[in-house]
Amino acid sequence: MLRVGINGYGTIGKRVADAVCAQPDMELVGVAKVRPDYVATGAAHAGYQLYTVDDEHTEAFAAAGIDVAGPLEELLTESDVIVDTTPAGIGAQNRPLYERHETPALFQGGEDATVGDVSFNARVNFEAATGADYVRVVSCNTTGLSRLLAPLEETVGIEKTRATLIRRGGDPDQTDRGPINDVVPDPVTIPSHHGPDVQTIFPDLSVDTIGLKVPTTQMHVHVISVTLAEPITETAVRDLLRGEDRLCLVPGYAEIDGTGTLKEFARDSGRPRGDIWENCIWEESITADGREFYCVQAIHQEADVVPENIDALRALAGTHSGPESRAITNETLGIGFDRFRSSPKPALDPTAAD
Ligand code: NAD
Repeated sequence: MLRVGINGYGTIGKRVADAVCAQPDMELVGVAKVRPDYVATGAAHAGYQLYTVDDEHTEAFAAAGIDVAGPLEELLTESDVIVDTTPAGIGAQNRPLYERHETPALFQGGEDATVGDVSFNARVNFEAATGADYVRVVSCNTTGLSRLLAPLEETVGIEKTRATLIRRGGDPDQTDRGPINDVVPDPVTIPSHHGPDVQTIFPDLSVDTIGLKVPTTQMHVHVISVTLAEPITETAVRDLLRGEDRLCLVPGYAEIDGTGTLKEFARDSGRPRGDIWENCIWEESITADGREFYCVQAIHQEADVVPENIDALRALAGTHSGPESRAITNETLGIGFDRFRSSPKPALDPTAAD
């Protein structure tokens, strides 16, 4: 059993904690939390051992009636590995602490690539992280791009990728984020930092990204344009993408016309927190014209890195191959919307539909 501790129990940390508990080969030692807020009461309610990050707030936990198992240092001692899901930049500050305790760690995509020995995506470079001590799971956007580009690169090769990333302004709990009523190029310079981040996974890939922020908390949307090394037919590329376990092709008949509907679909499907672990590619957007490929995909920023963290834990532990780990993670989390896996229904003729 791999004993896992989580430091930083917020949007990503709470999801990774739940996912760890669903694994047959992992045990959650506990989670480290700064303050006894509603997320901490949620952890206590779930039965997770809570550790405090500093002495300053320990009394506040007692006042809120939340039992504390001990300080963060104890969590580090009792865990085989720590998943650092603290806000961007704090993970790098924490690395010396983990080194002092000789506790290997996973970091998240908000950190610079230098925080870990390797940047990780389960589909592309699982083996590169095998046995490593410090691994960085790349960001939600980089995860989404890597999953899509991997089969294209492997099958026909990629000459050039261009991606416009329409990013959510903030997560639902980030009441101080924006924009409220605007569309903001962010960053205004091209390429955005996402392209170089994808190159931490595909070092030789030619990829330019443009980033914008918009007033939504639901999901990111990527508008993708790829010049392939060799031509591919639309049917072949659709089948290629359909064969990928963490890509979901959203069929036209489902009438899922945006990220709001996608999230509603996820909730209707019984997904915890309405999470969508897969890239959702609108099937009708998939267009291939000789060597040019286009599509539009939605990425649930709060969720897509969760299975990647689970696979990164197994890579770091050196217990499974990439395919073995991904299969266990997919099975235990319930990845894949089964109702879209049946044979495609005929598309409605829009002129006859009304
Ligand atoms: P978050 O703010 O929701 O959660 C971070 C948690 O860490 C909070 O509970 C906070 O109180 C706690 N914390 C703050 N300082 C701490 C400290 N010194 N020690 C321990 N805990 C501390 O952040 P998040 O959205 O979960 O992001 C975590 C990491 O994951 C970041 O690197 C981020 O870039 C990355 N990430 C976030 C998303 C997303 O959309 N939210 C997606 C992919 C990757």
